[in-house]
Parts: sequence; C-alpha cells; structure tokens
Amino acid sequence: MTTETAVPRARGAAPAGETERAQLEAVLVELEGRATAKFRSVAAPAATAERRAVALGHEDLAMRARLLRANVLVREGRSERGGRWAHEVLAWAGEHDDAFLLARAHRVLSIFYRQVGDLSEGLTHAVQSYSHLADDEPDVVRARHLMTLAVALDESGSTEEGARRFREALQLASAAGDAELALNILNNMAYTAYEKDDERGARELVTHMRDALAGAGRRFSALELDTIARIEMMSGNYGTVEKILHVVLDADQALVEMHEGDAPAVCLLTLAEARRLDQRYAAAQEALDAAARMATERGLDRVRAQAREEQAALYAATGRFELAYEEHRAFHRAMTALHSAQSEARARALQAVFEATEARQASEHFREMAHRDALTGLYNRRYVNGRLPALLGEALVRRSPISVAMVDLDHFKQINDRLSHSTGDAVLQQVAELLAEFATGPMVAARMGGEEFLVIMPGAGAAEAAEQCERLRRLIRDHGWEPVTGTLPVTASIGVTTSDDGRGSPSALLSLADRNLYVAKREGRDRVVTDL
Ligand code: GH3
Ligand code: MG
Ligand code: MG
Repeated sequence: MTTETAVPRARGAAPAGETERAQLEAVLVELEGRATAKFRSVAAPAATAERRAVALGHEDLAMRARLLRANVLVREGRSERGGRWAHEVLAWAGEHDDAFLLARAHRVLSIFYRQVGDLSEGLTHAVQSYSHLADDEPDVVRARHLMTLAVALDESGSTEEGARRFREALQLASAAGDAELALNILNNMAYTAYEKDDERGARELVTHMRDALAGAGRRFSALELDTIARIEMMSGNYGTVEKILHVVLDADQALVEMHEGDAPAVCLLTLAEARRLDQRYAAAQEALDAAARMATERGLDRVRAQAREEQAALYAATGRFELAYEEHRAFHRAMTALHSAQSEARARALQAVFEATEARQASEHFREMAHRDALTGLYNRRYVNGRLPALLGEALVRRSPISVAMVDLDHFKQINDRLSHSTGDAVLQQVAELLAEFATGPMVAARMGGEEFLVIMPGAGAAEAAEQCERLRRLIRDHGWEPVTGTLPVTASIGVTTSDDGRGSPSALLSLADRNLYVAKREGRDRVVTDL
C-alpha cells in the first residue's frame, strides 16, 4: 500500500518533459537530504526549483520545493509565514493522498508549533509525521522524523518515551553511516540530559559527540559547543567553558554561519552565566552586553528576554537589588509580550488552516467520490491508505488498541462461474451492506478490491475484535442468500490482528491480518483466525 501513495507521477508528459521532471526531482532530493546545519543554503535553490516546477506544471514538485522553503523560514524563526506555507502544503498533500509530503509537512509543523510554544500541537504533528512515513522510506529519513518525535515527546513531558525514540533515531542514523545526523541527535540528547541535571549521562553523550564529529568531517558548531559548555558549567569548570566558547566569540564566521542566527548570542549568554557563577562580574557584564546587543540587532526576542533574566541575576549577585528587581520585571514583561506574539502567530496559522479547509469543501464531493468504491459504495483502498496511518497515530497518542480485520469471501469464483458475474456483483453489494451496518461507531469498513474487505476497529483490543469478527462471520453466513444464490452458500474467512497501543506500521498490520486470513483459508474457510 505504500507505493500507491508515493509521489504522484506526471500524467502523459512528453519524454522531454519527463527528463526535465527527473532533473527537477533530483535537485529536490538533494535539497531534502541536506544536513540540518546547512539549512540556510536550501532557501535560494528551493525558490528556483519552485518557480521551475510551476512553469512546468508539476504541482507536486512545486509543493515539495515550497515545503523546503517553509522549513528554512521556520528554522530561521520567521515562523508565521513558514507555518502558513507548511499548512498549505499539508492541505494539498491531504487532498492528493500524498503520503511523502504529508509526513514531511507534519514534521515542519511539529517544529513550527514547538517554536510558537504549543507543545501539544507540536506532539500531534510529530506523531503524524512519523506515522505517515512509508515503509520504504530510507533509514536516514526515518531517523530524522524519529528525532523530531523524540524532541516533541520530551518537551511535552514524556521523557522516557522521548528517550526511547532518541535511541532508535541514533541507531538508525549510525547504521546508515550518517555521522552528521547522529551528531545532531546526540546534541539533542546531551542538551536534554543537561536540562534533566543528569551530568553523568550528559558527559557520556559528549564523548559520543566527539566520536561522531570525526565521522562528520567538520568542527563543532556553535550550538553544539554551547551544549558542551553548559555541561562543563554543571561541575563548575568555568575556565573550560571560557575555552570552549572562545572559538565562537572569536567571530569565527565559517563556524557560526552554519547555524541558526541566534547561536552566537546564545553562546554569549552561556558565557555571561559562567562568568557570574565564577564571580568575574565585570567580564560577565561584558559578555551579557554583547549578547543583548546582538539579540536587539537581530530581532531575537527570546534571547533578549533571557538576557534580561541574566542581567537581573548579575545585579543581584553584586548586591544591586533594586536594579535586579526592575530588570526582573522587565524580563517578565518581555516574556509576556513574547507569549502573546506567539499566540498571535498561532492564531494566524490556525486561520490559514481554516481557510484551506473552506477552500477544500468545494471539492469535497469529488474527494468523497474518489474515496468510494463504485460497485458497493464502501470506502476504497485509497481511503484506507490515507486513513489507517492517521488512526494508528491516534491510537499511539492515546495508547489505545486498534484492530484490523481482513475479510475474504470463500470460493467466490464459483458464484461467478456457476451463476453469473452479475450475481457475483449482487453478492458483493449485499456483503457491503452487511459490513456497513456492522461497522458502527469509530469502525471503518472498506472494499480493498475484488471480494476482499477490510474493517478497521479503533479502540478494540484482541478479545473484543475476535468477538466482533465472529459476529460478522455469522452475519454473512446466516444472511438470507437464497433469493440471490439459491442453494450456494456465501461465507467469509476473516484474519484479524491487533496493535495494543498503536505501534507498528500500517502495512505491517495489514500483512499480519493477511497472514491470519491465509491460515483461516487453509484450515477450511468460514472461520476467524486471530493472532493468538
Ligand atoms: P478463496 O476461498 O480461496 O478466497 O477462493 P475465491 O474463489 O474466493 O478466490 P479467488 O481469489 O480465486 O477468486 C476471486 C474471484 O473474485 C475472481 C474474480 O473473478 C472475482 N471478482 C473480483 N472482483 C469482482 C467483481 O467486482 N465482481 C464479480 N462478480 N467478481 C469479481
Ligand atoms: Mg475469496
Ligand atoms: Mg481474495
């Protein structure tokens, strides 16, 4: 089911157009694969690629390019436009069942929402971004999405869950030989350990960072050095902090450019804090002034506010309590302003989604048709391909079970052969009606093709699913078939499987159900086979 939802192909393009498309695709693949540290270098070529894709009429490629640009904006802290673009791409991807783009747009939105301070929305998008990944996505992509999920889980308080994803991501990145990505993941893990006050864990991670650095073939970036400096600060090694950050403060452009615009200011703040703790107050003030100046010049509101907090601490350390108090109030005002700016950005982003939804409603009817099977009116495989990952994602967030049942009619070929093809059609239609009546509440019934149906049962654990399937089996067998098939019975074999907490990929779940269905056929048909 994964290949079907991959990037759509160009329709009926001439061979020359195909070549241009392939070239453009190659450009996008390269840009999408670029290391996070080099995100800025993506902006210009992505804009060119988008214009080119629009000119050639390849809407899907234009969307991929636009998402790359949205990612740059979000990482630069220009969240509002970045978030809006990412939402537009998400809406387009949803309409076109484009799992490739869905996974990536959700990832950018996860970063966006975390930046504007909505951690729960950030987590929801991170979960979606992971669950929309197709099985054949490269491990490096899987590792990136896992890292985003790990950060989102960690920031919203699920430390253990986050730690597990970090480890998985690291394993994948290392196995794939992507030292750059491994370094990125390790830096996140080390900073998390620092925040948790876990000095031993943090130091161990720094050792791993040094190992990974050799493989990445570069020097530490400013933000990585900042992490390491903060860990040194935990045990009062202020001289070491000074030494580590010296490189950054030397305005080593090559080093700083690789990273987010706020990196040098963040490093200066760390330095100011270390110097204050070391009671070198004049030197601390010097670093702090530089940090505040840089934050003002570059419009880094968060860093500017943090500088005020540090200033208050510095005043207090030197006995100037009145000034400390005033500065502390200024810090609070700045944070409040920051939060309201963030909620405005969030409101605007939500407005953008809302507008996109409205625009979609016009084509709702056609979309609905595209999701329905023409013979039976049930949902089709295409719908399942889009819906199952989302339902699994929801189960994962809620930690609730979900079951899927594959239903295949027995000896259906005989009905066609002995009676007629149109009788076969009538049987399929009646089975579909039985299924539609059966699938109440959150259940989803679909025709996967031929005489094969699927029932998704969100919230149903193994025992409940087995019971329901047994009921469905009898519903089909005991239906009054006589008027349609005469003496020929209509029965179904059912293979059902359960994910206890939403874990596992959609295709893995489907093939487990398939395997159980195969057992049901082999053991004599007209029966339900479960995982047990
Ligand atoms: P088993 O119990 O092993 O599942 O046997 P079966 O005969 O049901 O399975 P098989 O896969 O051998 O045959 C399925 C048949 O379903 C073959 C195909 O002609 C028929 N079929 C597929 N789609 C339709 C349809 O839309 N209408 C009708 N009437 N027949 C269909
Ligand atoms: Mg069959
Ligand atoms: Mg079949």
